[in-house]
Order: sequence, then structure tokens, then C-alpha cells
Amino acid sequence: MGSHEQESPHPMGLTRRGAVRAGALAAGAVLLGGAADLAAPAPALAVAAPKVYTRSDWGARRPKRYATVTGAPDHIVVHHTATGNSTDYSKSHAAALSRAIQRHHMDSNGWDDTGQQFTISRGGHIMEGRNRSLAAVRDGRHAIGAHTANHNSHTVGIENEGLYTSAAPTKALMAALADTCAWLCLAYGLDPAECIVGHRDYNATSCPGDRLYGMLPDLRKNVAARMRTARERMELLTLAELPEEHLPSYPAVPTGERAAPYYHGPALGERDAVRAADDGAADGPEEDLPGEGA
Ligand SMILES: [Zn+2]
Repeated sequence: MGSHEQESPHPMGLTRRGAVRAGALAAGAVLLGGAADLAAPAPALAVAAPKVYTRSDWGARRPKRYATVTGAPDHIVVHHTATGNSTDYSKSHAAALSRAIQRHHMDSNGWDDTGQQFTISRGGHIMEGRNRSLAAVRDGRHAIGAHTANHNSHTVGIENEGLYTSAAPTKALMAALADTCAWLCLAYGLDPAECIVGHRDYNATSCPGDRLYGMLPDLRKNVAARMRTARERMELLTLAELPEEHLPSYPAVPTGERAAPYYHGPALGERDAVRAADDGAADGPEEDLPGEGA
């Protein structure tokens, strides 16, 4: 948060952005074996998608205007909320934080809605932020928010609960942040080594705090590891096919097979039904049944 509405020159310049886009193209090509579509197919997204609570889960207010949805973003911006380092790790606290941020953004800042696309609590709960954010990710698109001045059209913002000038985030928060970034990188075909930045990389702000900013290199590695895992699971789900000689022939009956009314049965006959009715085994204690072991 902070300085979201200030006008400031692009600190990285178009050259870097172009280079990053090229990196993302290369990463996408490697990830998907050269597929033309950069975004991961649905099974990989389903594998990688973390639990994200929706706006109705946390009781969001209706936005003043609905967000504009545009093409895929090329960067993920890490923020801190600069709120207290709460030790309440509950879902209800996370929901209350989301409502408080929305209230601040709409009523104090006068914005259409909460600014960031996602919010992560110190308990590791991930909340949808700006309206249309979740649907946009699923469609490989971007719901434009208000979190990084002059760069909202091409960046996804994640607000991480707390103030990280000197204190460190919780492990739960960092794990949820890595999960979220891996999911977004797969959705958009982005290279985590290039696309994950701190708010201070774009605007004159201390956000996301020296401590969290210093953890971004490790975060990028953790995100890459999660993406590898998701890719391996995706291969298990979608790429493995049996060779033709091992494919099941059912329901075709092999030629030369003896003709019979059942292919597997029969498994129960008339005498089974009679005995079940007669011996009352289901009602009494388990004992040696008459006829067992004969
Ligand atoms: Zn920020």
C-alpha cells in the first residue's frame, strides 16, 4: 500500500518490461513443450490453484463500478498492508482485514473498490480482492486494480498482512504467497524469476518493507519449485496414455470366448438369498455360523 495514486516515472523502463515478456514467452514454451498458448491448460491450473476465499466469503461490498478486464498481466507486485502484525491467524480475522481494506480504499481513498487483486493474512488465508479478480485469473485475463501507480494495467497486486520493515512475515503467510504466485505464473505463463517484484521496484515507497523485500529471491525459487511440482502432476493427469496393446477391450468380447450369460458373474444365487433370510446373521453377535467352514 502507499503511494498508489502518485504519479511517478516508470523505474524500470519499457526495455525491462519487454525483456521480461520475452522471458515469460521462453518459460511458457519450456513449461508446455512449445505450445502456442502460453497459459497453462485447465488441469495444471486446477492442480496448482490454492484455496482462495471469494468476496462473498468475506462479505465484500458491491463496488462503485465494476473492474475493467483486460489481457494477461506480466508482473506480480508484492505489497505489505502496513497494518499491525496480528497474532490472530483465524479466517474470521482475515475476512475482517479484507473488509477493513475495502472500507479504507472506497471511503477514504474514494476508489471504486478494494485496490489489490488478492490479500493474504498472517494466518495464510488467501482472499480475493478487487471484483472480477478470480474469474479473470481463470480466464487468463486481468481485472485492473489500484495498487501500483502507473502500472495497474499490467500488474497483479498481492497485499500481505503486516508491516515488514524489520519483522518477518509468518511461515503460513509466505507459503500461501508462494502458492498464489505459482498459480498466477501458471495461469499467465510467467517466469517467477522475472515477474515477481516488490512495490518499491515501481514506485517511491518502502513497501513491502526491507525484510519482506529481502525475502523475494527465496520466494521466486519456492514458486519455481511449486510450478515444477504442478507440471509433474499435470503430466501424470494428462499426458500418460497406455500403448494400444494394453488398452482394455471391454465391452468387446474376445473372439473364441465361450458364450455365457455373464462375463463376470454370477456372484449371488437363490441359495444365498435364502440363507441370508434364515440365519439372521445381521442381527445377532458375530458367532460361528452354521455351515461355515464346511
Ligand atoms: Zn504497496
